[in-house]
Amino acid sequence: MSILKIVSKVNITEDLWNESLDGHSIIPEEFDGITYYRVVKKVGDLKKGTVVTDSGVIYDFPRIARIMHLENGVKLAFNNPFYVEEKVDGYNVRIVKVQDQVFAFTRGSYVCPFSTDRLVDFFDYENFFKENPDLIVCGEIAGPENPYNGESPPYVTEDVSFFAFDIRNKNSDRQIPMRKRYKLFDEYKIPTVTRFGRYTSSDVKDLKKHIQGLNEKGCEGLVFKPTDPSEKTVKYVTEGSCLRDMKVTSSLMIEYQAEFFTNRMLRSIFYILEHDLPLNEEFLKKAGDALLQPLFESVKKVAGGEMITEKFKVRFNKKQNIKKLFEHFHKCKVAASPVRHEKVGKHWHVEFVRKCFPSYEVIQKHWDGHSHFD
Ligand code: ATP
Repeated sequence: MSILKIVSKVNITEDLWNESLDGHSIIPEEFDGITYYRVVKKVGDLKKGTVVTDSGVIYDFPRIARIMHLENGVKLAFNNPFYVEEKVDGYNVRIVKVQDQVFAFTRGSYVCPFSTDRLVDFFDYENFFKENPDLIVCGEIAGPENPYNGESPPYVTEDVSFFAFDIRNKNSDRQIPMRKRYKLFDEYKIPTVTRFGRYTSSDVKDLKKHIQGLNEKGCEGLVFKPTDPSEKTVKYVTEGSCLRDMKVTSSLMIEYQAEFFTNRMLRSIFYILEHDLPLNEEFLKKAGDALLQPLFESVKKVAGGEMITEKFKVRFNKKQNIKKLFEHFHKCKVAASPVRHEKVGKHWHVEFVRKCFPSYEVIQKHWDGHSHFD
């Protein structure tokens, strides 16, 4: 179907489409011979993150509101039963069939060459999309060997795994009911996030037990999904995940908005107060280390004339996709360069480093003695 016909189904006229292309609110991209369009600024009802293809529109993955207090938050959010799932710490992909190929799109609406290469290791997607070409499988790719995220769940000890949590339709931003989603996951043996089941807001005792268990294991948190479509999905995270977030990002603190850290400090304080944990030496030391130790290492490096870098390891099925990942980084203005690659068993193991210029340049100027107003 032509692109104009596709977008007309989501109320985008030919004029608006052409204007949006001219004004760079919609950007054409190509991957493996397929053209797709990234919505980078809202156009009509299409929000940033939406992808338009000639096989249909893939709506953006919606933001999830956060609750800071588990008991009060759940009571305020839900009058009806809701489903509870683990919130897995990785990166979001939308897996979808475009023409006769299946791709994994990132939240930023790019085809991710790494995730697309690895789909074959996650589930029998050929079979799923042969029977359901208009569905989109949304989930988290998580594990220590991923190209984006410094954190991973404790139970993925090497490489990456896939955890589905949502199924959507092309050309629609409406949700498929939870029961139907779970049925499809089971029918097609698609691995999912841990499903804790169906609860109501009077089950706070059980919910507290689940989150405390996750905190002890080193997991990120919970997502609460309504059975009544007029209620909204909310998320709640563990104290441990706040400290880990700070620890993996504080080496590049200069590149982050201050709120990134204040929000996490506040969340961890709310958590320990609600769950009766002590503000003891161990917590204070962990929080202090998370904030200051990596930053200290960065400043020390730059003072010694060294670049700040982040190291990554990833595994690929097809050698030709390694190059595509670096082309993708180049497009996204990420200064990543390969260090080495070798075939180990069935996968290509690739190591690369990302040079962190913005942090390096600021620290270097300060160290060299340049004055500034703050
Ligand atoms: P947001 O997407 O809410 O704006 P964000 O981009 O900072 O915020 P997070 O705080 O990590 O992301 O929370 C939302 C993300 O959590 C989702 O985009 C999804 O990728 C991920 N996630 C992990 N597990 C689940 C789950 N069980 N259900 C829904 N999303 C999940």
